[in-house]
Amino acid sequence: MPLVRTAELVAAGPVCAFNVITLEHAEGIVAGAERAGTAVILQISENAVKFHGGRLTPIAAAASAVAAEAAVPVSLHLDHVQSPKLLHRAAEAGMSSVMFDASHLDYDANLAATRDAAAWAHDRGLHLEAELGEVGGKDGAHAPGVRTDPREAAAFVAATGVDALAVAVGSSHAMTSRTARLDHDLIARLRDAVPVPLVLHGSSGVADDELRAAVAAGIVKVNIGTILNVAFTGAVRDVLADPALVDPRKYLKPARERMAEVVERMLAVLDAG
Ligand SMILES: [Zn+2]
Repeated sequence: MPLVRTAELVAAGPVCAFNVITLEHAEGIVAGAERAGTAVILQISENAVKFHGGRLTPIAAAASAVAAEAAVPVSLHLDHVQSPKLLHRAAEAGMSSVMFDASHLDYDANLAATRDAAAWAHDRGLHLEAELGEVGGKDGAHAPGVRTDPREAAAFVAATGVDALAVAVGSSHAMTSRTARLDHDLIARLRDAVPVPLVLHGSSGVADDELRAAVAAGIVKVNIGTILNVAFTGAVRDVLADPALVDPRKYLKPARERMAEVVERMLAVLDAG
């Protein structure tokens, strides 16, 4: 199955995007998607690139190779990019989409930076996602009270030309409990006001029924990261208690398998792809 483009998967949505930090993440995500028989997006965040010493190419090449051999359609996405320099490396690294995140700026500055990013991306045939109404938690502080205003969102999309919009509707990044309550009425109003697909970030903190309701109300792309890391680290912790264990395969294999199980289950919940 060839690597596909994010725009195709979003157009056929709903679709889940899972965060890749290590090769084992990419392998586990694709294994889970293959069991579910569902397309997925592998996304690499700017923070993951920083973890890899600021190098995008090695982890992108690994994810791309895993995608190319997958039995289901897989696309590559560069997530939460704040650095224009990193944005400008997306195409050569095999990404077909980028989330450019200027949501920490005020409205006018976010709009100007996002408009430039979208123009650059469109010149290269890339799908550009942006964010309006900052989804909290990336700095460790949950900000579930922030909300995206539908009228502002419509004006923002018209002025920037973005292809998808991440919205603040009650979720928060980095949650390890699935207790976030979403504003489903607001999701529906955003869907009606905004002509491009809506993206939910921080979906690890959202329970199954809330996620289903969010997709029913109009969310098209569901970003999932933290719940994979909970699975990975939990599996490693379970086996590392044995002090005689030194072979990394002995803990990375169950970690990868635990992530695959989570991916398969989340895709079943959302009936995605
Ligand atoms: Zn996010």
